[in-house]
Amino acid sequence: MIQAQNLSKLYGDSPALQNVSLDVAEGEFLALLGRNGAGKTTLLKLLALLTRPSFGSLSIAGVDQNGDWNTARRRMGLLGHNTFLYDDLTAEENLLFYANLYGVPDASHTCRETLETVGLASFGKELVRNFSRGMRQRLTIGRLFLHNPDLLLLDEPFTGLDDRATALLEDLLRAAHRQGKTIVLCTHQLELALKLAHRLLILERGKVAYLGPNQPDRMGQMRELYLQFAG
Ligand code: ATP
Repeated sequence: MIQAQNLSKLYGDSPALQNVSLDVAEGEFLALLGRNGAGKTTLLKLLALLTRPSFGSLSIAGVDQNGDWNTARRRMGLLGHNTFLYDDLTAEENLLFYANLYGVPDASHTCRETLETVGLASFGKELVRNFSRGMRQRLTIGRLFLHNPDLLLLDEPFTGLDDRATALLEDLLRAAHRQGKTIVLCTHQLELALKLAHRLLILERGKVAYLGPNQPDRMGQMRELYLQFAG
């Protein structure tokens, strides 16, 4: 699903990411860890095709730099720091907008189903401006899964979530993983990464400090490793 070779990203003269090579197979769950400023968001943005590498090559879902990025983008779901919800639209209209953008078949039905999944079925006709923070979070999570993406890219998705949204996202990620979706989760929460991921990528000052299996039966060692490079 992801093949990255020697990816580097410079901002001016400063390297945010240096020579990162990474293969992520279909169905894999990778956690991306590292201290503040280690380059996690930069790597996720590159994988989400939101920015271009300064050097190196990248292929996502079989599409390389010479191919049609939009084909790859349609297969992705991205959860970043922004909710990208429209306050002046209802919950249903927000979902319909994205469903149509992604060409989701039977969009109205899918949107109603999604509202149900995220516990907002009775609020579909409400303007999002009247929603609580938790409701917005759940709607954003619903939007993520709306077009049934094969590749989920998540940047600190659990930060600031209320308990209900946290449980919902965790359930949906586990279900997505069971369905064979590929997941890249950037997080500061080591426990969560150890609970969910197959493999860990720890970045240190833009370079790969560790790329290897998560070993849930060796929690102690995994914690030590994390503290060494990212604690
Ligand atoms: P955090 O955990 O704090 O979100 P991070 O691991 O996601 O950090 P990045 O946001 O990828 O790290 O940043 C990596 C480096 O690149 C940092 O030194 C940051 O200041 C720098 N950087 C990131 N984005 C830009 C930008 N648009 N312009 C200039 N420098 C940037």
